[in-house]
Amino acid sequence: MAAQMYYADDADRAFVEDRKVAVLGYGSQGHAHALNLKDSGVDVRVGLREGSPSAAKAREEGLRVLGMSEASEESDIVMLLLPDTLQPDVYEEHVAPNQKDGEALMFAHGFNIRFRSIVPPQGIDVMMVAPKGPGHLLRRTFVEGGGVPCLIAVEQDATGNAREIALAYSDAIGGTQAGVIETTFAEECETDLFGEQVVLCGGLTSITQAAFEILVEAGYAPEVAYFECLHELKLIVDLMYEEGIAGMRYSISDTAEYGDLTRGPRLVDEHVKATMKQILAEVQDGTFASEWIAESRGGRERFLALAEAGRHHPIEQVGEMLRARMPWISAGKTSVQEASGGQV
Ligand code: NAD
Ligand code: MG
Repeated sequence: MAAQMYYADDADRAFVEDRKVAVLGYGSQGHAHALNLKDSGVDVRVGLREGSPSAAKAREEGLRVLGMSEASEESDIVMLLLPDTLQPDVYEEHVAPNQKDGEALMFAHGFNIRFRSIVPPQGIDVMMVAPKGPGHLLRRTFVEGGGVPCLIAVEQDATGNAREIALAYSDAIGGTQAGVIETTFAEECETDLFGEQVVLCGGLTSITQAAFEILVEAGYAPEVAYFECLHELKLIVDLMYEEGIAGMRYSISDTAEYGDLTRGPRLVDEHVKATMKQILAEVQDGTFASEWIAESRGGRERFLALAEAGRHHPIEQVGEMLRARMPWISAGKTSVQEASGGQV
């Protein structure tokens, strides 16, 4: 079934302009939502825990900062932008006691609603506005007059206005510039976890490291392996992002294209697809969610050890050395000129 798309004309900004919004958290998503809402003229405040290191930053950037309970108490809409594993405790302590029937609880990811680690009362509207991009991009594209596509979903519509509010909120953070798609908490959550596990994060990092290891073990120079397996990824991904897979193939050599068409499917064969299906099943039946919640509550020992091991992979050492000679890359810029602010 094709998804319903919404653009700026479909949103009635009054649904968010008439309400007070609390953004809880000032991390990747939090800072971008809060600043975009403020610049759109929405009455927004940021709710942070006592002694939060982000408070000074948020104030410097012109935002009103309150405690999480006060921000929730004062607002009609609470947007939870804390790490997913912390949200249930924060919700119980600061949000639930401060929300009245007819108010709205919003999320940027379906995790806690989908796996029922947060169960809001019936009288509350429950919606999702999930930007399909990291916070710094949500902020930057907004400042530039564009936006990041957003998924919206309505889990509970107590007031009859839930969809309109989510759409107006998406509009105020810039989402309707790029397109807003209506989905469900389950669809967003399950596809998001699956995508980050098998393609965007897990698939990509594992395939890159494995290919690097194989080249280095075969006696090729680590620098050559790094450029081939990691550095060039961006060029290919940019083409796919701009023109799709077919457009990317148009730009590469026919030798590369023939290798792509004949070797790619051999690599990602029925066995790999069966493993992907198993990973999807673990997302759908809650196995992954319970494992991650337990890991998080238990002190994150395995998570931290795996992350530490990843930081010591040989690809990081050679990469660090090579990128040090290309400072424009680490500055997140695409050209020497851009990185030096047009000075070159
Ligand atoms: P983050 O880790 O960047 O930010 C978390 C913020 O929460 C911190 O900056 C701080 O303000 C606050 N915080 C941290 N520890 C806390 C504690 N112990 N108590 C209270 N507050 C604390 O989080 P994020 O990546 O912005 O994710 C927020 C939500 O947005 C999540 O639901 C996530 O799934 C979703 N999301 C993230 C992205 C992304 O690209 N990062 C994209 C789409 C959706
Ligand atoms: Mg994600």
